[in-house]
Amino acid sequence: MKKIYLSPSSQPANTYAGLSTNEQEVCRDIARELATALKRCGFEVKCGDYGTMYDRVKESNEWKADLHMPIHTNAFDGKVSGTRLMALDLTGTGYKVCQAVLEPLDKITPGTSSNITANPGLYEIKAAVAPTCYVEVDFHDVPKVAKWLTENKAQIGEAICQGICRYYNAQYVAAGEKPAPTPTPEPQPAGKIEGLPVVQSGSRGDAAKILQGALIAKGYPCGSSGIDGVFGVNSVAALKSYQKAKGLTVDGIAGPATWGKLLGV
Ligand SMILES: [Zn+2]
Repeated sequence: MKKIYLSPSSQPANTYAGLSTNEQEVCRDIARELATALKRCGFEVKCGDYGTMYDRVKESNEWKADLHMPIHTNAFDGKVSGTRLMALDLTGTGYKVCQAVLEPLDKITPGTSSNITANPGLYEIKAAVAPTCYVEVDFHDVPKVAKWLTENKAQIGEAICQGICRYYNAQYVAAGEKPAPTPTPEPQPAGKIEGLPVVQSGSRGDAAKILQGALIAKGYPCGSSGIDGVFGVNSVAALKSYQKAKGLTVDGIAGPATWGKLLGV
C-alpha cells in the first residue's frame, strides 16, 4: 500500500481576493478532502494539516512516504490563473505524478494557463526524500478563481486523487461507491483436472486407453480385452468400483474429479 504524505500550505497571511479566507484554511480543507478520497482508494495517508513546512517534510521523511505532496494555491498579478504543478525535474517520478494529476485537475479548475515545471530549489521538493508532486491548484488572487476554490474543495481533492490513482494504477473509487470486487477464480474442488475429455460408456480412442491403463494400474481390471480403447461394460464397472472406493460420484463417467484423483493432481 503506497504512503502519500499531504503537506498543505501553512500560510494564513495569503488572503483570498474578495473573501475572508486564506491559503492555509482552504488548502488544509482540500488536503483533508484528498486524504479521505485517497484512503477510500486504498492508500495510506498522513495529512500534515498542522505545523510548518519544515515539520511536515521531517514527518514525511521519517514516515518514509512514497509520495510527498504539498498543496497550495497561487498568487501573481491578480489576472493570471491556471493549475501549476512542480517537480524536481522533468523526468523522474515526481514529474510523472504531476502528469497524471494535471489532466483531471486542470479539467475542473477555471484557469487555463496550466503547466508542469521543474523547481529543484523549492524547499519541499529539495528536502523531501520521497518524489514530490507540488500542487498549486489555481490562483487565489483572482476574485472569481478564489471563489471557485472555496466552493470546490471536495472536487479538487477528488481530482487530485484520480491523478494519484492513475499514476499508481489503483482503482479510483468515488465517494459513496463501493470498490468493485476483485474477480476471484471459480473455486475448483481439490483434485480436479481440466483439459481431459470425459470418458464414459461407449467412449473410444486414446482417452479411453489412458483411462483403462490408469484403472488397471490401480488394481481395477477392465475385462479380458484390457487396454483396447473401447470403454465398454467391464471398463465402466471398473471405473464405478474405483469411484466408489475413492468417494467420488459413482456414475461410471470420468470427468475432471475422477481424472484428477486417478492422476494424483
Ligand atoms: Zn503557497
